Amino acid sequence: MADELRFDGRVVLVTGAGGGLGREYALAFASKGASVVVNDLGGDAKGGGKNSAAADKVVEEIRSQGGRAVADYHSVEDGEKVVQTALDAFGRIDILINNAGILRDRSFGRISDLDWDLVHRVHLRGAFKVTRAAWPHMRKQKYGKIIMTSSTSGVLGNFGQANYSAAKLGLVGLSNTLSIEGSKYNIHCNSIVPLASSRLTQGIIPPDVMDVVKPEYVAPYVVYLCHESCPETGGVFQLAGGWAAELRWHQAAGVVLFGKGGQVPTPEMVRDNWDKVTDWSGPAKEFSNSGNFMAELLGKLQEAK
Ligand code: NAD
Repeated sequence: MADELRFDGRVVLVTGAGGGLGREYALAFASKGASVVVNDLGGDAKGGGKNSAAADKVVEEIRSQGGRAVADYHSVEDGEKVVQTALDAFGRIDILINNAGILRDRSFGRISDLDWDLVHRVHLRGAFKVTRAAWPHMRKQKYGKIIMTSSTSGVLGNFGQANYSAAKLGLVGLSNTLSIEGSKYNIHCNSIVPLASSRLTQGIIPPDVMDVVKPEYVAPYVVYLCHESCPETGGVFQLAGGWAAELRWHQAAGVVLFGKGGQVPTPEMVRDNWDKVTDWSGPAKEFSNSGNFMAELLGKLQEAK
């Protein structure tokens, strides 16, 4: 296949690759010629315990199919050590899939400091630590592809997941900024919002839907997003069961309010114009770039004065 997407010579680090979505990414990249670091702490779904078996099993699977892979058992909280495994085994790092995750669901009134901290440490701080360790290598080689794993719970909220949703939307913010800072070094960063059957979604996704949203349907999208031919950066992509769509922010019509002589508006003026703040009757305006937003805002303010 002449136009096959190949990753020969590329080194991919997948965190949390001992099962679920991460395992599928690791297998998919390896089948396309990449050398893969299979990171997994091997704990339970709530972040307790550790075990080398999960990562070892995936490495074994890749090797038995003729692929190249090594295991790494560090927590993503030890980002430097995780990335060092890639450097020691393969001498570089080209692609980083921040995927490791746990859940400690509690309704907000019952959430403990530990529930909040553990989830943030694995998802947001873990992705920060691994990505910061990989960043200088990507900068130096002027090449890098990074994926942050968000969630619909982050984008939309979800009952019982205050800790998780805050961390997951945090990852989108991190991804957006890295896509801006990485652009001059040819480092691309995108977020994904997946849905897939795994131990994290057992009991949440109805049993008859589990087969429809197998994680292997998500992997090809992640593989393409990380190929050198893919220009995307700063995007957020919803992926589930073969379905994929980009997600974006939009802005309502809005209004500029000034009191007499350009003074600060009163709260009553705000109340009386609230329907304009929330006016979605016109075409939705895209809201995707803080530079553009600033320029547009200044234009609107000048026009209104
Ligand atoms: P999973 O439990 O099968 O995979 C997560 C993996 O991360 C596990 O193998 C686990 O051992 C590993 N891990 C946990 N803490 C770690 C740490 N500190 N260091 C290294 N590895 C660690 O679950 P999954 O559904 O495949 O989830 C993968 C990612 O996708 C997670 O970030 C999850 O939040 C996200 N996600 C999943 C879904 C879904 O529908 N499955 C939806 C939205 C987001």
